[in-house]
Amino acid sequence: MKAAVIGAGLAGSVAARELRLGGVDPVLFDKGRGPGGRLSSRRAETPAGTLRFDHGAQFVTARTASFHAFLSSAVEAGAAQLWDARLVSIDRGGNAHPLRQAERFVGAPGMNAIVKHAQAGLNVQLQRRAVKMKGGAGDWTIHFEDGATEGPFHRVCLTLPPEQLIDFLARSDGDFAEIITEANRAVVEPCWTVMAVLDAPFDPEFDGAKIYGGAIRWMARMGSRPGGSSAEAVVIQASPDWSAAFLEESPDAVARQLCEEAYVRFAMPLPKWSGAHRWRYAMVTEPAGTPCAVAEDATVGVAGDWRLGGKAEAAWTSGEALGEALSQS
Ligand SMILES: Cc1cc2nc3c(=O)[nH]c(=O)nc-3n(C[C@H](O)[C@H](O)[C@H](O)COP(=O)(O)OP(=O)(O)OC[C@H]3O[C@@H](n4cnc5c(N)ncnc54)[C@H](O)[C@@H]3O)c2cc1C
Repeated sequence: MKAAVIGAGLAGSVAARELRLGGVDPVLFDKGRGPGGRLSSRRAETPAGTLRFDHGAQFVTARTASFHAFLSSAVEAGAAQLWDARLVSIDRGGNAHPLRQAERFVGAPGMNAIVKHAQAGLNVQLQRRAVKMKGGAGDWTIHFEDGATEGPFHRVCLTLPPEQLIDFLARSDGDFAEIITEANRAVVEPCWTVMAVLDAPFDPEFDGAKIYGGAIRWMARMGSRPGGSSAEAVVIQASPDWSAAFLEESPDAVARQLCEEAYVRFAMPLPKWSGAHRWRYAMVTEPAGTPCAVAEDATVGVAGDWRLGGKAEAAWTSGEALGEALSQS
C-alpha cells in the first residue's frame, strides 16, 4: 500500500513513521523549502555573522511516554538537547516568577532538527505545494501547484493547518463536510516574531520569559540555548491580540515597535539588525478535541496540532493516531 502525507511538520512526520511501521509505503510532500513546519529555524546574515534563530516553537515538553521516548532518541542522536535556562513568567506589574521545573527540549542545532530526526529514512519531498486530490476511496491522485500529479495512493494523510486544509478539501473529490466543519471551528491565532541582534550586552536576568501586559508575550536570548552563538541575539514574540491587530503591518514597523517595548520594559539595547516573521496561523487556542478524523471509507485522514491543542506534543499525538488508524484500515 502507498500513502501520501501532505504536510511534513511534526504531525505528518510521525504519521508517516506509523504508516511505515504498519507496512505502508509513505511519501511526504511539503510546500516549505526546509523541513520542520512551525518547529522552525532560520539562518540570517547579520552584522554579527550568520546566525540561527528559532523563530517558531521555542521548546517542547513531553507528558506522554511516546513523545518522551522520541525526544530521548533525538537527544541520543544529537538532534535535541535539554535547555537548562533561567525561565520566568513576568506579570503585568513587572514581577518575575520562575517557571515550574520541567524537561524542556530544544532542537540541535535548531528546532527543525527535531522534525528532521522524526523523518529519518523517510521519503520527503520539499517545495511541493499540494492543491487538491482527485479520485476516490483507496485510489487518490495528488495535484500540485505546478501542475504535476502523483499517485495513485491508497491512503492520504492531511496534516495541513485548518485554513490550508479547508482550501485543499474544498477543491478535492470526496465528501469531507464534517472535517471541514471541524476545521472551521478550530481557532488558530497569529504571532508576529522578531529576530534581533543587539549592539551591546544584554542580561535581563532571564533567558526566556513569558510576558504579560503589553505587546510582547515571549522573549528569549538565543545565546542561552545549547550551542547558541556568543552574539547577543534575541527572539521576541508578540501576543495573539497584538499580532491580530497589527497583522498587515510591515515587518520593519513590527520589529521597531516590539524592540521599543523591550527597550522600555527591560532596557534592551537597540538592535543593530532585526527581521520579523509573520505566522498567520501560529497557536491553536480552540482545538477540534479528538486526535484525528478519517473519511472516505477510512482512506483519508486529518491530523495536526489543531486537533488537540497548540503544542508540539499535540501534533505528535495526533499524527501518531492518524498513522495508526490509516495503516490498520
Ligand atoms: C511562534 C510559535 C511559537 C510556538 N511555541 C511553541 C512552544 O514553545 N512549544 C510548543 O510545544 N509548541 C509551540 N508552538 C506550536 C508548535 O510549533 C506546533 O504545535 C507544531 O509545530 C505543529 O505541528 P504540525 O505538524 O501540526 O503543523 P505544522 O508544523 O504547521 O506543519 C504543517 C506543514 O504543512 C505544510 N503545508 C501547508 N500547506 C501545504 C500545502 N498546500 N501543500 C504541502 N504542504 C503544506 C507546511 O509547510 C508545514 O510544514 C509554537 C508555534 C509558533 C508558530
